[in-house]
Amino acid sequence: MSAQTKFLLDESRIPRAWYNIVPDLPVPPAPVLHPGTGQPIGPDDLAPLFPMALIGQEVSADREIEIPGPVRDAYRLYRPAPLYRAHRLERALDTPAHIYYKYEGTSPAGSHKPNTAIAQAFYNQQAGVRRLATETGAGQWGSALAFAGALFGLEVKVYMVRASYDQKPYRRNLMELYGAEVVASPSPTTAYGRRMLEQYPDSPGSLGIAISEAVEDAAGRDDTKYSLGSVLNHVLLHQTVIGIEAIEQMEMAGERPDVIIACAGGGSNFAGLTFPFVGQMLRGEASYRVVAVEPEAAPSLTRGVYEYDFGDTARLTPLVKMYTLGHDFVPEPIHAGGLRYHGMSPLVSLLKAHDIIEARAVHQRPTFEAGVQFARTEGIAPAPESAHAIRAAIDEALEAREQGTPRVILFGLSGHGHFDLSAYERYLSGQLEDYEYPADRVREALSAVPSV
Ligand SMILES: *Cc1c(COP(=O)(O)O)cnc(C)c1O
Repeated sequence: MSAQTKFLLDESRIPRAWYNIVPDLPVPPAPVLHPGTGQPIGPDDLAPLFPMALIGQEVSADREIEIPGPVRDAYRLYRPAPLYRAHRLERALDTPAHIYYKYEGTSPAGSHKPNTAIAQAFYNQQAGVRRLATETGAGQWGSALAFAGALFGLEVKVYMVRASYDQKPYRRNLMELYGAEVVASPSPTTAYGRRMLEQYPDSPGSLGIAISEAVEDAAGRDDTKYSLGSVLNHVLLHQTVIGIEAIEQMEMAGERPDVIIACAGGGSNFAGLTFPFVGQMLRGEASYRVVAVEPEAAPSLTRGVYEYDFGDTARLTPLVKMYTLGHDFVPEPIHAGGLRYHGMSPLVSLLKAHDIIEARAVHQRPTFEAGVQFARTEGIAPAPESAHAIRAAIDEALEAREQGTPRVILFGLSGHGHFDLSAYERYLSGQLEDYEYPADRVREALSAVPSV
């Protein structure tokens, strides 16, 4: 058995094209509908929010989309990302399983999010856009877009979910260091934010609310476009560099994964790692188990409905067919802020609806327990979001031990948790909250899902 721990690719192996899963899907994606008319939207409806190049990628049926030179050059700052074999975790678990993880925390912002932030900033700059408005949950996306804005000379305004704004002051500092302007959401700077603050002065905020504010900002200004860090097809597309590299790195390791695991908030790191593998499955070239892991506090894939719903709370976004808990649903302030979303990417949802992928939900405390075990064996303090994938990977490894059978596990370590240490402090001092699945509030929010 090889004791090799890191599987590293040369810079020349940064992918030259992103992988678009759409042509390999068993059925075409459901059309996106206009929030007012309920009719399928066209490119012109999205033009106030996004540059045409990204709208083209949103609806593309090409299997491969070339990565522009300046984007690939910016990727050189941190890509290819390393693949690790978790020898020490395996020994601690006393498992016959082999555990691999693809680590995206080596990017300047500390997560996978720059993979799309860089691409989005590039296409906006090419289109003559001067300013980007966006939302952020945990602050990971805001940091990534602030970093990318600095690379391409764009102003960035970030609406940061109130709960994270209070829990993670250093994320805000990092965004400001990169030159972005940051406000807590709901904020008094938009009409929708003011309305929310009047109704719920103590609102912890949510991604749904912050998206509404950022969309309102971008739609109201000629020099500004909107940028989303997850959910949309073009965002998932940009993330596929993760899985394309991982396929090559697993070949270097001489193994094929039996199960591939990633956490899912809006679905972008999950899609980034797994879609290139799922593409092999859909083309009949391989077979894997593919598992999306979400929090019990926001379990869209495991407890939501597969229906048309709004992406935001104010009903400003188009209607998309996805697993949703209802656009009114505001998840408890769990520390994995990036997973506090009521919906799920339409592409990830389609794969779940067709049983091509699996989903499971995990509670906050066992998730942190897994994160701590990982830190004490592998050395990396994981982001609370990523710890969801670690929980599921450890459970797979323990099951392999019970069954006494080998298993090759690959999971996505989407980011580091250096800005989440106050949450780990709560866990270590026995004060970490655990939230039950909020069945009553979900039932109420589901009743507001529009019937299309
Ligand atoms: C944002 C984020 C997530 C969740 O977003 P997805 O689009 O579901 O990937 C997960 N992990 C980290 C580290 C994040 O920053």
